[in-house]
Amino acid sequence: MPGPLPPSENYAYETLADGILAAIHRPEGHAICNSGLLDLGEGRLVFDTGLTADSAGDLVAASDAAFGADPSLVVDSHWHLDHMLGNSRFSGVPIWGTRRTREILLERHDEFSAELTRAKLDQELATLERQKRHLRGEAARADHAFAVQFVRGLRDSADSLRVVPPDQTYETRLALPGARGAELRSFGAGHTEADTILFLPQEKVLFAGDLVAAGIQPSLGSGDPEHWLVVLDEIERLRPERIVPGHGPVLPADGIAEVRGYVSGVLKAAAARKGAVLPAAIRKWEGSLSLRENLNFTRKWLADRAP
Ligand SMILES: [Zn+2]
Repeated sequence: MPGPLPPSENYAYETLADGILAAIHRPEGHAICNSGLLDLGEGRLVFDTGLTADSAGDLVAASDAAFGADPSLVVDSHWHLDHMLGNSRFSGVPIWGTRRTREILLERHDEFSAELTRAKLDQELATLERQKRHLRGEAARADHAFAVQFVRGLRDSADSLRVVPPDQTYETRLALPGARGAELRSFGAGHTEADTILFLPQEKVLFAGDLVAAGIQPSLGSGDPEHWLVVLDEIERLRPERIVPGHGPVLPADGIAEVRGYVSGVLKAAAARKGAVLPAAIRKWEGSLSLRENLNFTRKWLADRAP
C-alpha cells in the first residue's frame, strides 16, 4: 500500500490529481528544477531528473512511497544540466527526449564533463562571489542566488556527476503507455532547439519544463525567441488548467502570460535602437545579469537573421 511521502530537503511535493505529483524544488536544495511524478497505470514516470543523482534519489523514494515502486520511465524536457544530470540515478531505465536533445548532449558531452570538475566549480563559485557586490535590484539578486545554488549543488556532488543523454528519442509527439492518455509533445524550438512538454488531457495538467517560468527569468540563449511565442500558443491550445513550470510554483492557465510578456518584451527591446525604453513587461527585471545576457543574445540572434 502506498504510504506518506518521505520528507525531502530538495522538493516540496504537491498532489495535482490521483497518481500525479509535482515535485517543486526548494530554493536551498540541490534539485534546482521542478519535476513531475506520474503513475501511468502501466509503469511510473519521472519528468525531469534535476541537477544531481542525490536529489534524484528523493524522486525515487517519492515514487516508491506514492506508487509502490521505482520509476520505470524517465523524460528529459530539454538538455539543460539542471533538468537532466539526475539521469545518472536511473541506470537501466529508458530515458526519453527529443532527437535534438540527445544529439546536443552527445555533441557537448566532453565539454560539459570538463566543466563539472570540483576545481572548475570552485573557480566558478569564486567568480560569483566577486559579482555579488555589483548586484543592483531584487531581480539581479534573485538570479544571482539561483546561479550560486546551481553551482553549489554541482560542487557538492562533483564526484558523482555524469552526463547521461536520453537513449530513446521522438520528434513531435509520443503517446505514453497506460489509460491516462498522457503524451509528450514537442512544438519545435523555443527555450532550446526542441523542448518537450508532458500533457495529461484528462486532468488538464501540463508539465512545461523551462518553456514556462515563474518568478525567475527564463534563459533565451539556447533557443529561438520568436518561435517560443508560437510554442506558447500551441501550449495554450491544449487548454491546460494547471501548469508546472521548470522553476517556481504550480501556475493556473493564465500563468503563461508572464513568460509571453517577458520573451516578447526582450524581442522588442533587442530590436529597438539603443536607449529605447524597456517594455513594461520586462522593466521589473532591469539591472539583472540574466536580462543583459538575454538582450545580448537576442540582438545578435536578430542581426544574424537579418537579410
Ligand atoms: Zn532550461
